[in-house]
Amino acid sequence: MSIGTNLKRIRDEITTTALSCDRDPATIKLLAVSKRHSIESIQEAIAAEQSCFGESYIQEAQEKCKLLKDVSFHFIGHIQSNKAKLAAELFQVIETVDRLKLARALNKHLETLDKDIDILIQVNIGKDPKKYGVAPDETISLLAAIKEFSRLRPVGLMTMPPFSTDDEETRSYFRALRLLSLECAEKGLFFDNHCVELSMGMSHDFKLAIEEGSTSIRIGTAIFGERPNL
Ligand SMILES: *Cc1c(COP(=O)(O)O)cnc(C)c1O
Repeated sequence: MSIGTNLKRIRDEITTTALSCDRDPATIKLLAVSKRHSIESIQEAIAAEQSCFGESYIQEAQEKCKLLKDVSFHFIGHIQSNKAKLAAELFQVIETVDRLKLARALNKHLETLDKDIDILIQVNIGKDPKKYGVAPDETISLLAAIKEFSRLRPVGLMTMPPFSTDDEETRSYFRALRLLSLECAEKGLFFDNHCVELSMGMSHDFKLAIEEGSTSIRIGTAIFGERPNL
């Protein structure tokens, strides 16, 4: 199946799923996760009108971001604080801010670059010891502390729940992230508290995520196929 065909299928599935739960399909963005895939694959997606890509490795993304200037790149991987400078330079959105030290480092480099960016707070909603992200009960204090960083616009929350074959369990994590976002919005902690981004849902669970309020799904495999082992 070609990348263009896959994109069309996913877009159709977003529309169908959104309508089935009384949501406006236009409120759900599709981030094409291109990590470990080639520049040629990204270009194929661009030819099929995809304009927003997710990358997880800073080194690898460097070349892609520099060559492909007309599309936007979101960072969705773990950032070590010593890579904050590169991340600040390269990306339009960073979805994986999960600690104060990283926020501070990003803000400092953005000051130098005279650039503002959108960030999402990565929440470890299932308290999975193998996953990154701020603990759910520390999210409010992290967001409150980020208020002082003028170059960071906290637009929402992102999560990757623990893998489960039980749809109801997966759904409960997505629901928990949405409830947490409502709590944060009520306290006025986001850049726009009436329009909060929820980045949740991947190839295997995006329909559940849409049903639970996702505004941005991150799809790799279902668009580009299995990731090559580099
Ligand atoms: C790789 C990745 C995805 C995409 O996963 P697929 O299962 O290939 O759709 C989404 N989100 C994050 C954070 C990822 O690292």
